[in-house]
Amino acid sequence: MNEVVTQRTKGADEKFCSDCGETIKAKAEICPKCGVRQSAVPGSLTATAPNGKSKVAAALLAFFLGGFGVHKFYLGQVGLGILYLVFFWTFIPAIIAFIEFIIFLTMSDETFNQKYGNA
Ligand SMILES: [Zn+2]
Repeated sequence: MNEVVTQRTKGADEKFCSDCGETIKAKAEICPKCGVRQSAVPGSLTATAPNGKSKVAAALLAFFLGGFGVHKFYLGQVGLGILYLVFFWTFIPAIIAFIEFIIFLTMSDETFNQKYGNA
């Protein structure tokens, strides 16, 4: 079956509903047509994942508290977080966390959201 997709141009302050495809306001949280809640748009200014995880917050946690695995707990990787915590006295987690800090900085928001957005 070849369904015809409605080719509608959307304005700068508009987006398509993630469910029904209706053109709605970019800031709309719920589609007026179908009532489905809209997930965060990739590359939006807030730069937060659908679950509210922020790359900047993860990077800062890795930098300041990375030796204790705080950024791992923050990202929902509790098992790894505990591992960091257990071995924090070896300073190895701190070194790994610093590398992760750099990775977070160089990582795009899209990659971060894909990797940790649904954790
Ligand atoms: Zn809709």
